Amino acid sequence: MNIHESASAPTATVAREAALLASYAQHSADSAGRHYPEPPHRYRGPYQRDRDRILHCAAFRRLSHKTQVFTGEMGDYHRTRLTHTLEVASIARTIARALRLNEDLIEALALAHDIGHAPFGHSGEEVLDECLRDHGGFTHNAQALRVFEVLESRYPDFPGLNLTSEVLEGQRERTHKAAGDVAGRAPLLEVQVLDAADSIAYDAHDADDALELGLLCLDELLELAMWRESRDRVVARYRTLTDRQLRRAIVHEVIDWQVGDILAVADRELARCGVVNVADVRRAGRIIRPSTELSDKKLGLEQFLFDRVYRHSDVLAKRCVAQHALREMFAALLKTPDHLPDKFRRVAQRDSLPRAVADYLAGMTDRFALQEHDRLAR
Ligand code: MG
Repeated sequence: MNIHESASAPTATVAREAALLASYAQHSADSAGRHYPEPPHRYRGPYQRDRDRILHCAAFRRLSHKTQVFTGEMGDYHRTRLTHTLEVASIARTIARALRLNEDLIEALALAHDIGHAPFGHSGEEVLDECLRDHGGFTHNAQALRVFEVLESRYPDFPGLNLTSEVLEGQRERTHKAAGDVAGRAPLLEVQVLDAADSIAYDAHDADDALELGLLCLDELLELAMWRESRDRVVARYRTLTDRQLRRAIVHEVIDWQVGDILAVADRELARCGVVNVADVRRAGRIIRPSTELSDKKLGLEQFLFDRVYRHSDVLAKRCVAQHALREMFAALLKTPDHLPDKFRRVAQRDSLPRAVADYLAGMTDRFALQEHDRLAR
């Protein structure tokens, strides 16, 4: 790759990436840039700036008080949306470094990926989607784009965060991932890694949290091939472990096994498809994915978590309270839009009142939502 002055990256970043990254990584020099053109920063590359912009935005800080699966009332051991995000970033960086991908881009994508979540996790998302049924619906992935392009305003020169095209596109690709990749155009490897890291993180930590909360016991998880085989490897390494040490060692093993498997598949697929550059990545389909063997075991774990954890009566009870509060607040704010902060009244004029109400509710932390429910709907 030629080292050249890029319109979007400082020379030092371009040189550093040329020396360290693989040719199929997304290099800063090849960024399609930002919607509002900006001169390159003196020493930070474009994806470093994106990461910093996301880290400093209000929506990111609010992740610390948003539910991942378990609410704050259930204890303080389990993951919040923020610590989930940091675990995803850590796993994604590990995979990215091993494959010599762009870690700055990966970190920006990871910090961004769940920023559109409503309070109370997927329960909140379902309510807002139902409230916006006739107004385009609601998903956390699409909401993240609204946060970045419309709702955050921190810079005098442009609305939103003016993130690079690659970060926005990566997030946009997540919005239609459920429907499959756009034919003939796979996401960048950095985006594919983020998807894999997200899934590795939540499968491992949701099981760990459920054990700590007493919603499951270890023996139940050991009925699953993924946990049983991980336990066998841990026990072969350590003779005597307390129950807690064993549980944590299994969680680490479950993560490490999946990361190793992803890397082995990626090495094989990159060679098999002759991937040399980003254009090849786009043509090659999903390179970052688990092997068939692990994929089946992972499905077994996910089905188990769905049935036994996400549908556990304690989780469902909290979910009912949260959904009721959001529904009532949505109706109250539609009836009396004067209770919306000025910023969201402007959004109502720009888009629509239901969308503005959903934007306001989606930005709330769990705690603030319950406080506001007391104020607005009682
Ligand atoms: Mg996530």
